[in-house]
Amino acid sequence: MLACDTCEAWTQFIHFVKGRTSATAFGNWLAPIQVRDSSSDEITLEVPNVFVQEYLLSNYKKDLCAFLPVNVNGEPAIKFIVAPQQKKASITTTPLVKIIEEAPSHPLEVKLNPNYRFETFIEGPTNQFVKSAAMGVAIRPGMSYNPLFIHGGVGLGKTHILHSIGHYVQSTNKKLRVQCITTEAFINELVDNLRNKSIDRMKRFYRSDVDVLLVDDIQFLQNRLNFEEEFCNTFETLINQHKQIVITSDKPPSQLKLSERMIARMEWGLVAHVGVPELETRVAILQHKAQQKGLDMPNHIAFFIAEHIYNNVRQLEGAINRLSAHSRMLNLAVTEELVQKTLREMFQQIPAQKISVEQILKCVAAVFQVRVSDLKGSTRTKEVALPRQVAMYLAWKWINESLQMLGASFGKTHSTILHACKSIEKKIADDDTLRRQISMVERSISS
Ligand code: ADP
Ligand code: MG
Repeated sequence: MLACDTCEAWTQFIHFVKGRTSATAFGNWLAPIQVRDSSSDEITLEVPNVFVQEYLLSNYKKDLCAFLPVNVNGEPAIKFIVAPQQKKASITTTPLVKIIEEAPSHPLEVKLNPNYRFETFIEGPTNQFVKSAAMGVAIRPGMSYNPLFIHGGVGLGKTHILHSIGHYVQSTNKKLRVQCITTEAFINELVDNLRNKSIDRMKRFYRSDVDVLLVDDIQFLQNRLNFEEEFCNTFETLINQHKQIVITSDKPPSQLKLSERMIARMEWGLVAHVGVPELETRVAILQHKAQQKGLDMPNHIAFFIAEHIYNNVRQLEGAINRLSAHSRMLNLAVTEELVQKTLREMFQQIPAQKISVEQILKCVAAVFQVRVSDLKGSTRTKEVALPRQVAMYLAWKWINESLQMLGASFGKTHSTILHACKSIEKKIADDDTLRRQISMVERSISS
């Protein structure tokens, strides 16, 4: 799963289309599309083939414009990539030159989002503490709080603050080497380097060529048993050399399903919470974003929106994007009526429901075309054993229960669950089909 700006808008678009199309059409055309990357002004979608791309654009262009950022030509700002076919050739059939070209020569860093700076981060009572802690770290990296651990809900500005630190350090001290990564990228890089037998180079890079390490979304390390140790070692080496580490997460360290060693390390420094902004801050954020987009928005409208969208800044941004797209498309001023019309769906926020094992079993059964009763049973045929392991893996990933409890729900022991998790994790590292099936299950669980 990606932690990103425009993803939210994409999810809303998918939700919107789902209610207006047949299940078959949805399954064939929309469900296989994956978000690969996104920023506040563009989204990258991976499609299985160019027909899906054409289908999307010819049937939903208007809706896409309404939901997603638009480019200067008024087109939806989407970059398409066609999914690579399943890897079939073994490495020996690949020309050597290609292998050399593809081997990562140095780790991929996340480009800092140019909009995510301290100056553009609107302060309020719920994020002031985090912002000043972040500034403290940016001014004196490695000397104040180490690590700085930032946690809080989705879309509340964690990534924004993390990148702000990066910008600040880069602009004030050119000698310091800043490396900003998402946990997903770190894991992928590890996998690539293991494959290319260049793991030592990667270790060397992280342990001696980085002064400030910014790690986004550490919660993704939770289901990656095999990678936690490597991360922990890197972490310790850097801290021991007084190199600054900043970590973001959707939960505080103690609630992460990570080893005690890892949790203790993350609690070494300062743990700071970024909360939901209160009304005045939300209004200020809306006004700031509207101004950036060149949208003329009266004060009472900003209040009206801020009263109805209250727990996610990213959604406030989505609201502005949508509103500006609509007002531009229809050539209308921003009135309460237009807001009601265009943002009504965003106003009806459904509280995230708790996911149950039954729900997971149902979704897994649907995607893998087996019966729920088979998943619950103990048949060991391959057709059933794999989806059963997937269900265990997803239960572990999504349900905040101990392995023992989860084991009990499946009528199995905790070590069976653990074994399933490890095995699925290993498989998804290079099985694209399985990965896609799992994300289909995840999508249907969350819809
Ligand atoms: P998180 O990483 O916590 O999920 P992000 O940092 O991606 O959230 O923030 C989501 C969007 O909301 C970003 O575009 C960010 O710029 C914006 N945002 C969040 N908080 C603020 C704030 N206090 N002031 C201005 N923009 C904010
Ligand atoms: Mg984030």
